[in-house]
Amino acid sequence: MRGVASNKEVAGKTAFDFFPPQSAARFDAEDQAVMTTGIPLVNREHSTVDASGERRWHLTTKVPLRDPAGEIMGLIGINRDITGRKRAEEQLRLAASALEHAAEGVMISDEHRRIAFVNKAFTRITGYAPEEAIGRDPDFLRSGEHDAAFYEEVWSEIRNAGGWQGEMWRRRKGGDIYPEWRSVSSVKDEAGKTTHYVSVFTDISQLKQDKVRLEFLAHHDALTHLPNRTLFEDRLQEALNRAHRHAGKVGLLFVDLDRFKNVNDSLGHGAGDLLLQAVAERIKECVRKTDTVARLGGDEFAVLLDELAESQHAVNVAEKLRAALAQPFKLSGHELIISASIGISCYPHDGSDPQTLLKNADAAMYRAKEAGRDTYRFFAAEMHTVALDLLVMTNNLRLALERDELLLHYQPVVDLASGKVTALEALLRWKHPELGMIPPVRFIPVAEDSGLIVPIGEWVLKQACAQMKAWEAKGIAPRRIAVNLSARQFKQKDLPQHIAAILDETGLAPQRLELEITESMVMQDPAEAEKVLGQLHEMGIALAIDDFGTGYSSLSYLKRFPIDFLKIDRSFVRDIPGSPDDVAIARAIVALAKSLDLRVIAEGVETEQQLAFLKAEGCEEAQGYLLRKPISAEELEPLLRENARPLITAERQG
Ligand code: C2E
Ligand code: MG
Ligand code: MG
Repeated sequence: MRGVASNKEVAGKTAFDFFPPQSAARFDAEDQAVMTTGIPLVNREHSTVDASGERRWHLTTKVPLRDPAGEIMGLIGINRDITGRKRAEEQLRLAASALEHAAEGVMISDEHRRIAFVNKAFTRITGYAPEEAIGRDPDFLRSGEHDAAFYEEVWSEIRNAGGWQGEMWRRRKGGDIYPEWRSVSSVKDEAGKTTHYVSVFTDISQLKQDKVRLEFLAHHDALTHLPNRTLFEDRLQEALNRAHRHAGKVGLLFVDLDRFKNVNDSLGHGAGDLLLQAVAERIKECVRKTDTVARLGGDEFAVLLDELAESQHAVNVAEKLRAALAQPFKLSGHELIISASIGISCYPHDGSDPQTLLKNADAAMYRAKEAGRDTYRFFAAEMHTVALDLLVMTNNLRLALERDELLLHYQPVVDLASGKVTALEALLRWKHPELGMIPPVRFIPVAEDSGLIVPIGEWVLKQACAQMKAWEAKGIAPRRIAVNLSARQFKQKDLPQHIAAILDETGLAPQRLELEITESMVMQDPAEAEKVLGQLHEMGIALAIDDFGTGYSSLSYLKRFPIDFLKIDRSFVRDIPGSPDDVAIARAIVALAKSLDLRVIAEGVETEQQLAFLKAEGCEEAQGYLLRKPISAEELEPLLRENARPLITAERQG
């Protein structure tokens, strides 16, 4: 019975008038039992299902009613609807169970900071059983790694903002300390007074290790342990910044061994590796501690000469290097004589950024090769025969938009578990009437510099969304369409609103869109990036970090940004499984992504071996020439049509 019934409504009626027959029969039997035995039924809980199919709970007490002679003449029944209480209890039980079994550690303390509750994960992470923790001040978990001011700041943020989030070192029962990602929030009563503090935390030590390993691997060459190109360019940039401030000079030597291939071919790769290690040592001996020697790849090395007094000194070092490398190398019983060709470029004369200086030193090195090898050459500006006229390019690009010379190609991204196309990456193409197809790496930097990337980027988004919508209408659209954002676009004011407008205009659901951004884009202004990414994520758009591994990113930010995918940069995929270095990097990226709960997409997969390796490592999606090259929308349709067909199961085939 629901609610309150009036006397009139119940008088003269039986349980069959209020309850479904099955329940009514049970009540009736109970009544009979009380009446015949005289034993009262007290506070019995039972449930019924009402006419609308809803389960309701009742608390019933039935007492026999006796006449003055003590004979039973009827019964008094009290029935209370306790559905509300039951539901609340059920919810509490569910919540408690969820807390208890959560993957994160949970600790609740009272207003005096005494621990009132800890869950299973707390015990797993800290080593303390509930009875060892409850009632205590959580200070026993302090690691000694933070000073009093740190804790004061945490508490003041909890008091003022109602919560705190960040990394904190803690100590386990066994004594070792570990980093955790922790969020603390205060719980207030109706009067606004804090009654409890709830801390939720995860142990991020594995994550940190992965990240440190990844950082070393990503910035060093495994064979020689020298810095790699990424780190070299960073150091070069720093040296240039310093030189710029003091009006100083920086020198760059590009060293390429002559006929190194002969060594590999005749003595094998093992000997080749030993030689490269020995060469690395000799080059290091020729320079100051403050100079950087890097291996750029293969048999190419680079030397950064910091605070160069004059260009002539670069020549001195080049001479010294030649002489050092001319000494025979003794390797596993063989005596090897080698030589090197060296190209030199200097800041500020030959360029003012790392890429230009490297490119020019490289060009100079080729001149040295042409001059018969075993020598060095300076870069001279007139060597720049292929320099693009930036101004002409910018003007052409402006016209390209108006003349419809831009188009999109699409490259399928395949889900490795099902083998199905799960996404398409939109890649911009410029079909120049005279120059033919111009690849994006040539014109996107120009578009970026001139600001043209903003209207171009908007065109790309619109075009890609509209195309996806068209495929949707034909029933052949895969799950997502991925669009690359440029740095300039990402900084655009109201980017989320712009994108919302495009989605609105094209009618594409935000869940269908994936935006690709790079590490450096988000690291330029992490706070702003967090805001923008948060808004995009709220809208339902998927977010991917493109070219992952080539830049620096802070772990705490990666964890904080609402990212869905990491795309392993092509450069790490290229030499798998041959290069132990790249194998380790790819492996570490997958591990890192797993611990951050992100899906991994491998780029630039060109061979079956690469695909098999990535799949075995747990990489979820892949794209590359092996699977499909980027092609036009029309060319793609047959594949999409095929892809939209349901998979035939083994039973049906057999
Ligand atoms: P990305 O976003 O990393 O795109 C992947 C690039 O790898 C594409 O080059 C693709 O053609 C190429 N690729 C895919 N599979 C393989 C493979 O197996 N082997 C090799 N060697 N390459 C493969 P693409 O189309 O030349 O684009 C280059 C870059 O230009 C893109 O790199 C992206 O950063 C940029 N880009 C392209 N379209 C746009 C756009 O619409 N907006 C912006 N801002 N940037 C774009
Ligand atoms: Mg991309
Ligand atoms: Mg990429």
